[in-house]
Amino acid sequence: MKRLVVFTGAGISAESGIKTFRDSGGLWEEHKIEDVATPQAWAKNPEMVQEFYNQRRKQALEAKPNAGHFVIAELQKHFVVHVITQNIDDLHERAGSKKVVHLHGEIKKSRSSAYPNLIYNIKGWELKMGDRCEKGYQLRPYIVWFGEAVPEMDNAIDLVQQADIFIVAGTSLNVYPAANLLDYAPNEIPKFYVDPNPDLVYSFGEIRVIKEKAGKGLPELAEKLVKEFTT
Ligand code: NAD
Repeated sequence: MKRLVVFTGAGISAESGIKTFRDSGGLWEEHKIEDVATPQAWAKNPEMVQEFYNQRRKQALEAKPNAGHFVIAELQKHFVVHVITQNIDDLHERAGSKKVVHLHGEIKKSRSSAYPNLIYNIKGWELKMGDRCEKGYQLRPYIVWFGEAVPEMDNAIDLVQQADIFIVAGTSLNVYPAANLLDYAPNEIPKFYVDPNPDLVYSFGEIRVIKEKAGKGLPELAEKLVKEFTT
């Protein structure tokens, strides 16, 4: 089976009711990045950061996967599918995708503020100040904040370098180093970009742009891929 790598961003979860960051009505209109998604914010006002992510967790738990998530999982019948997501929600997994790399962490998990490798599942939606790791340090959301290293990046690069087909869906390609992944896709493989507002992509070389929402564009693309590459 051919290896299909799907690189997703906030846009793929938009039709599940989870706000993106940069679209109008998106999260950054309500919150400044530096107030909620940086180590400095955590040092200055951990209660506020905790509350911001508690709300994100509540929303993610209530959301359901949409047609875009489901069709990516369906493609596992025809391809070896690796999903690399910038999303912190678990909608890919809940749709049935088995191989998912989360570049920016997972909202349903916490990690020790002192020991990054101590990671726990959170029961329910709320992580509280006073909740501690086994070594006694405050737990923080298991999120890669702006300015922090992206530990899964090397793994993601390996997967992209080995891809036979590469799909990018629902990302503005504004967040680095994640957006650099496009540079690692082999030149000769087919590449597709599904996004209703695909502004930046032209700087990344040859890639077929499908100017649609994920819920429509991905099922149409999946049908073509199955016909073209598996028969
Ligand atoms: P972004 O907000 O910068 O860009 C969203 C992209 O999605 C835009 O290009 C937009 O045109 C597109 N989009 C909007 N509706 C769409 C739809 N229905 N179908 C397909 N595409 C659609 O998001 P980003 O590029 O992922 O980067 C921002 C960061 O935000 C990421 O690091 C991610 O961790 C974080 N984030 C995650 C979630 C989540 O987990 N669901 C939600 C918001 C933000």
